[in-house]
Amino acid sequence: MTDIELLDNIKIVYKKIADSTKRSERAPEEVKLIAVTKNVETDVIKKAVETGLREFGENRVQEAQKKVTSDELQVTSGRLLWHLIGHLQKNKAKIAVQLFDLIHSVDSSELAEVINKQAEKMHKIQRILVQVKLSDEESKHGVTEDNLFDLFGKLDSMRNLKTDGLMTMPPYFDDPERSRQYFTRLRELKDRLESSGYKLPELSMGMSNDFEVAINEGATMIRVGTAIFGERLIR
Ligand SMILES: *Cc1c(COP(=O)(O)O)cnc(C)c1O
Repeated sequence: MTDIELLDNIKIVYKKIADSTKRSERAPEEVKLIAVTKNVETDVIKKAVETGLREFGENRVQEAQKKVTSDELQVTSGRLLWHLIGHLQKNKAKIAVQLFDLIHSVDSSELAEVINKQAEKMHKIQRILVQVKLSDEESKHGVTEDNLFDLFGKLDSMRNLKTDGLMTMPPYFDDPERSRQYFTRLRELKDRLESSGYKLPELSMGMSNDFEVAINEGATMIRVGTAIFGERLIR
């Protein structure tokens, strides 16, 4: 991919964010673009940084570690924010707490407990989102709706975690309208939790093919890979 193509892709994504927020009577600033850099090399990420992008999402701790700590990606204006969007294994929680500003994939009290302990040791307040599983696909991680309130109850006592919202990943559909029901459901769950007293500003939902629908349903963070960096090898 050429630099021009990368720049064009980013412009197109921003234009779509502008258009869909407008249609939804929302402000474009309400939606944060997280550029998903799994399988993207640091030299390409650097180019994305040069266009002004500051928030990046990775789905594997090991792969992220090389990038977050690489000299090439140290910036002088502001700083990069790194999001863990993939499943986290408990034995990688320590590195995850070192590397990531926001962990989107907390889906059990056991995992939350381990992250909380590591954060405590590092004197860090770790921001997290709770990943909710709204479809019955075997391959998807996330807490089920039935266990969601119970999980939030347990998070209450974990002092080094700050729970900022919910995340979900619907099954893949060619027609993005079919994702809508999942996004609607996640927003309803957030509303229900908020009426029980939780403060949850963030809804992380929407990827390359369906982020406009997600924005329409209230997404505050969209996770976009392919639309920015092109098709990469699927692992
Ligand atoms: C890969 C990935 C994305 C980005 O997907 P694209 O379709 O490439 O935009 C978003 N969220 C998660 C959890 C991912 O693993």
